[in-house]
Amino acid sequence: MKITTADFTISAVSPKQYPASQDPEIALVGRSNVGKSSLINKFLNRKGLARTSSQPGKTQTLNFYHINKAWYFVDLPGYGFARVSKELKARWGKFIEEYLRERRQLVGVIQIIDIRHPPTKDDLAMYEWLVHYQLPTLIVATKADKISRGQWLSHVKTIKTELKLDSQVPLIVFSSETGTGLEELHRWVEERMDR
Ligand code: GDP
Repeated sequence: MKITTADFTISAVSPKQYPASQDPEIALVGRSNVGKSSLINKFLNRKGLARTSSQPGKTQTLNFYHINKAWYFVDLPGYGFARVSKELKARWGKFIEEYLRERRQLVGVIQIIDIRHPPTKDDLAMYEWLVHYQLPTLIVATKADKISRGQWLSHVKTIKTELKLDSQVPLIVFSSETGTGLEELHRWVEERMDR
């Protein structure tokens, strides 16, 4: 997919602020600091569009990016940040869940997982939600450059086993650093647009 335009639209704190457009949306989910912003920037080939930060948990909003004036990337709040209160966690969960359950424009979800570690409890819960809502899902195992290529397969196997990944659900090994998996990612997004 050729990226001609990529515009930040809004950081929404409530559904009222979501774009009124009927353009299809692809959501990104993952725990805080997993590399969502880096993936968006790499995908769009725009260095600073999505804010990458070393302060996990800062993004408590749904960030909409309008791509080619045709579809949206929606960066959902990172989950599993230990230093926030239970109340805040519950609120985030509800916010994310409502969006995933009710958003008509949503055509696919990219769940990002750190390839280095087995999925966390929150990763498992998130994936269960996606299965429950029957949302077309792509698993992206990111930060692949942080382990050796020889380790990829065994780490992917662990992720697949722990998630009890459905054989229909694709998984891509990815790196925002090296661009590993970028073509496959573009292909999946294109497929979702052609649905
Ligand atoms: P977010 O909170 O999920 O948006 O995560 P960020 O995109 O801000 O990334 C968190 C940290 O991980 C930053 O320091 C990034 O530079 C780093 N990071 C993200 N993706 C990769 C990757 O694929 N490889 C490497 N080596 N570092 C990454």
